[in-house]
Amino acid sequence: MLAALLAATLVFSEADAARAYATAEGLVAGHTPRDAGTAEGFAAATYLMDRASAAGGDVRRDRFTAATPRGTKGFTNLECAVVASDERPWVVYLSHYDTKAGVDCPGANDGASTSGLLVALTGVLARHRRDLPFNVLLVWTDGEECFGRYAPNDGFWGARRAAARLVASGRTVKAVIGLDMLGDRDLQIILPHNATPRLRQAVLAAAKTAGVADKVAATGDCVKDDHQEFLRAGFPAVELIDFDYGSRPGLNDYWHTPQDTMDKISAESLLVAGRLALAVLGELR
Ligand SMILES: [Zn+2]
Repeated sequence: MLAALLAATLVFSEADAARAYATAEGLVAGHTPRDAGTAEGFAAATYLMDRASAAGGDVRRDRFTAATPRGTKGFTNLECAVVASDERPWVVYLSHYDTKAGVDCPGANDGASTSGLLVALTGVLARHRRDLPFNVLLVWTDGEECFGRYAPNDGFWGARRAAARLVASGRTVKAVIGLDMLGDRDLQIILPHNATPRLRQAVLAAAKTAGVADKVAATGDCVKDDHQEFLRAGFPAVELIDFDYGSRPGLNDYWHTPQDTMDKISAESLLVAGRLALAVLGELR
């Protein structure tokens, strides 16, 4: 019932997908590279903040410092709360916006695509604030990418920070939904195994409601990404990612390379991802 009701009101349109794509395009064109802890990264955050504010979001910067293998660095997360009512539980959407240092990667798909998607989602959610069954927090994380190997002081800095802030807030959280690499023209979304089982089921149900079931599959594989830090902090979390990104299946040769450019992603894929992301709201109990 809730799913059908929401499907009728919370529509992610082709214009929303075009906004997601255009935002990713502007991020890549104007802010590449945008490695964690750099001035370019801070400028990238400002660009996204301006776009999400223009979409109707109430966006705040969260600047913080953290230890890294290259010394202490400054990071910038963005948070946008869309509040339906004070009593409602929260749903959190995540996208990182930083690029991988040292590999000359524009991150059109890896970072920019879902950061543009969050801006477009901000617009839809802000327009339908009063119809929402949950309060929604959108978080653009800095420092998802590690310098070397993922470790407690390397990678996921923004997610660790955002998860700690969420714990401190005392908010009731229904779901944390990680979004990454969902702009791929050849989109095949997987739900990695390292997730809360009921949320994987909710996403599969949402895929049917949204009419994109052929694009989504659960997998037994684990994927390290920002959502992991929320699981670690005790929140229910799930990850939507297309981790096969290359010139041929299995090759992954566009990932973390100079090949990760705008021509490899499409507004059509972002339309699928946006519809799926919103439909999940109708499947949470
Ligand atoms: Zn990456």
